[in-house]
Amino acid sequence: MQEFQTFVTHLECSYTGKTYPADQLHGLSEAGKPLLVRYDLDALGKAITKDDLNSRLPEFWRYREFLPVRRSENVVRLGELMTPILPATRIQQELGCGEILIKDEGRLPTGSFKARGLALAVAMAKELGVRRMAMPTNGNAGAALAAYCSRADIETFVFCPEDTPPVNVEEIAFQGAKTFLVNGLINDCGKIVGEGKEAMGWFDTSTLKEPYRIEGKKTMGLELAEQLDWNVPDVILYPTGGGTGLIGMWKAFNELESIRWIGSKRPRMVAVQAEGCAPIVKAFEEGTRHAEPWPDASTIASGIRVPAAIGDFLILDAVRESDGFAVAVSDASINEAHRECAVSEGILLCPEGAATLAALKQELQTGRIKSDEQVVLFNCATGLKYPMQSSHHTIDLTKPIDYDFIRES
Ligand SMILES: *Cc1c(COP(=O)(O)O)cnc(C)c1O
Repeated sequence: MQEFQTFVTHLECSYTGKTYPADQLHGLSEAGKPLLVRYDLDALGKAITKDDLNSRLPEFWRYREFLPVRRSENVVRLGELMTPILPATRIQQELGCGEILIKDEGRLPTGSFKARGLALAVAMAKELGVRRMAMPTNGNAGAALAAYCSRADIETFVFCPEDTPPVNVEEIAFQGAKTFLVNGLINDCGKIVGEGKEAMGWFDTSTLKEPYRIEGKKTMGLELAEQLDWNVPDVILYPTGGGTGLIGMWKAFNELESIRWIGSKRPRMVAVQAEGCAPIVKAFEEGTRHAEPWPDASTIASGIRVPAAIGDFLILDAVRESDGFAVAVSDASINEAHRECAVSEGILLCPEGAATLAALKQELQTGRIKSDEQVVLFNCATGLKYPMQSSHHTIDLTKPIDYDFIRES
């Protein structure tokens, strides 16, 4: 049994600052807000160098000193590689803007960046003796939970709103979670999980209702800074649902500055949402710290169809402190960007990733993104899990082959 070198000191309520002991099972704070993991950053900074990191395998657990797992035996691995950053050169030329970099998170296990959060949440659950986990999901989080829990031999219950993409529902069920399709919305599913805690004895793994998914998603910020040679880009466009990744990256940059691995420059954090579900955008524009639940949420980008985010104030704080903004894009512009990136760059985005490209195009027009800024777009999942707009032709073998038709198609 190998001990990791860890630096966790305590957990802290993100709203009131009240502290909680580490190494115990926690959900939300007493104030009903997310808990954040705190570290002895001085000791961490002395224990590891950039060169140490550089000599390790290009994978998630290279950042273990920045994470709370204490015993290596609790790590559950499915091959969490560092994800590539792909320049979108042709689109950049066409738009006449600064460098566009796409961080392609679709390469992770279960095909989405939910793997980062759940790899860590499941490792911590294992470390703290949890035997049964449950969550409401629009798809990718449930798939990651199912896969990591099956591998860790933890029992799992997953609840999906009835409009969850069928491929997600089946991948969750197929990977061993007890899976339920619910004729309601994600908050109805969340209620089943919350209210069933006592009767079912499960641990509520809902977004931000446990402290560790943020830490897993934090690795996106660590990884991005490392891949850019310990620099941060000018702007990050992040498709924002529950906001775990945006909050996690913001935390990563602050921790990296504390150990003096990066300076005080921060990327401008841009929360991208869909016009049919834009609670954070509305709150940003109205200048409030919390977002009102969005009625009748609807968008093709199911990963960002989150009408109420429990970490709303954390998303809005990061966006405002970074001098960023929140922006909504239409489903039509998401479809257009989806196609454009596939055709011009050979990169098959997910609709949520396409939303960030749509937002970039829109905001270069308004001038909120300047044409000399280096921009990172987050593609959160493999495009292969999603329906694609049909664009093929057909050939009828009962007729002569018409090569003019083929040439001109
Ligand atoms: C979960 C998800 C998002 C939103 O991520 P958060 O960090 O929870 O805001 C975006 N896109 C996809 C594909 C997702 O699965």
